[in-house]
Amino acid sequence: MKGLKGKNVLVTGASSGIGQAIAIRFAQEGCNIAINYRKSAEKAKETEVIAMQKACGELEKCGIKTVLIEGDVSQEQEIITMVNQVVEKFGSLDILINNAGIQIEKASHEVAGEEFDRVLAVNLRGAYFCAREAINHFLLNGGGVIINISSVHEIIPRPCYISYSISKGGMKNLTKTLALEYADRNIRVNAIAPGATITPINEAWVNDAEKRILVESHIPMNRAGTTEEMAAAAAFLASEEASYITGQTLFIDGGLTLYADFRETWS
Ligand code: NAD
Repeated sequence: MKGLKGKNVLVTGASSGIGQAIAIRFAQEGCNIAINYRKSAEKAKETEVIAMQKACGELEKCGIKTVLIEGDVSQEQEIITMVNQVVEKFGSLDILINNAGIQIEKASHEVAGEEFDRVLAVNLRGAYFCAREAINHFLLNGGGVIINISSVHEIIPRPCYISYSISKGGMKNLTKTLALEYADRNIRVNAIAPGATITPINEAWVNDAEKRILVESHIPMNRAGTTEEMAAAAAFLASEEASYITGQTLFIDGGLTLYADFRETWS
């Protein structure tokens, strides 16, 4: 996609799911990819291997650089270290993908303080501090792009996932506020909002035929999304094809946010 080749990209939580697919897609676009992971170096390595295979077959002939970076985005100091490591390894950072995310299912009246704080610390506070560090670098470097991985729950309330809903609602304003604040300094900030997507975070229904039918019955396109579909949208928003787009959330949800019940007619 226009303008992506040779860019340096950091993807948080890139050892699985949507983050893994995004890292692979950016490698296919000719970007250097920094693969952040929290626990599993093995899974991060898997991302690197697939990315390289898909991008060019053979690592040496490819010209793409990769780095695996362990780091917990709920820890401010680890974020600072992570962004510094990317700049040291690649020389600069051009694109940040704030993807790392967790959720905890619990009735809202039963959520413990530390559970609530943990989700906000990863999904929202972590995304902000990653953005802050990236922006500090972008300002020295003449610009950059941030893509936040939000959710349809940025606008659809989600009972029993109060901290997750709040984190994604907050991400909307994180995206808009940073976009406005830095629009005149060649920094674009956008979000993608996936609907139900086949990833480990959804293991509760992905491999359970009955539950999956129920989940997909709410989706106008009658199916969950793929990680590749999410990655394609992230690549578009990061590319020069989207050079005049900032502060927006792009919903990639098979029509989930279209109020599916209105499909019913009276006749
Ligand atoms: P996933 O569980 O495969 O990915 C989440 C990733 O975040 C994992 O790699 C995990 O290791 C990483 N992570 C968790 N805590 C971390 C931390 N403290 N520091 C660094 N990394 C951490 O699930 P996914 O579906 O790929 O989720 C990716 C993003 O997409 C999340 O932000 C999620 O909210 C969002 N999303 C997913 C769906 C969906 O249906 N799958 C829908 C909407 C939004």
